[in-house]
Amino acid sequence: MNLPTEFSALIERARTAVRLHPVDGEPAVGESHLGGPLLWPASEPWPTCPVTWPPKAEATDDGWTGGHPDDEPVPAMVGAAQFYRRDFPELPFPDGTDLAQVLLCPTFHTSKRHYGPAVRLVWRDSKTGGEVAEAPEPPEEADDMFLPQPRVLNPCRLEEFPYVDEFPLDRRVELGLPASGDDVDYELGQFSKVGGWTAWYAGDPEDLSCRECGARLRQAIALATQEDEVPCGCERRDDEEAGWEFGEQGALNIFLCPTDPRHPVKVRTE
Ligand SMILES: [Zn+2]
Ligand SMILES: [Zn+2]
Repeated sequence: MNLPTEFSALIERARTAVRLHPVDGEPAVGESHLGGPLLWPASEPWPTCPVTWPPKAEATDDGWTGGHPDDEPVPAMVGAAQFYRRDFPELPFPDGTDLAQVLLCPTFHTSKRHYGPAVRLVWRDSKTGGEVAEAPEPPEEADDMFLPQPRVLNPCRLEEFPYVDEFPLDRRVELGLPASGDDVDYELGQFSKVGGWTAWYAGDPEDLSCRECGARLRQAIALATQEDEVPCGCERRDDEEAGWEFGEQGALNIFLCPTDPRHPVKVRTE
């Protein structure tokens, strides 16, 4: 990626992004994937949408103004992705866990900064065993645009740099950065990934403090509508979209607390 060397403040903040390179396939419960079967114990209830109105404490984001009415049945969620630690050691797995699972409630929900599916992130120990649950059918009210097709992953790693927007306006001059991101000639590609930086298009990095501890949340998982053909240094060019659409051909970004990944996540569609 071409970044003028005078922007050392950006260069010093390089992060590894693990590009997923999803391809058509038949992923198994024992594999990392998008849209395949989750390793979900039959002994555990299948999760339902955490976003109700009025909001419940475990809701994925703050400031919800819309969700499922508290007095109506809350829809079952849809398995969107799972990531094993052996494939994605970059994810901040809490002690005793080696599997991260992402579930979506595939309807529109409204919060101050997100309009789209609700998200649940589950950390699990894959070695606890037992019978695996069969996923329920997507709920009747599901929006087809939020339902993925099964994809196996073919990850590669690349370096990403932050947008200037990630720095507070009053610090940019001191750091030798231009006041506006428009003056830096690079763009993050849009693709599904773990880690890296957020490709802000529609929004900006505001209101990203942890609801529990106040720490600034960090980009952790991006589920993209399309897989951009940007050079990532590997030869894999057989990218296949997962069949969902977030925002205006955007990406659903999941942010985690750096203090404790079990603190409530936030979601931004960009
Ligand atoms: Zn919901
Ligand atoms: Zn926190």
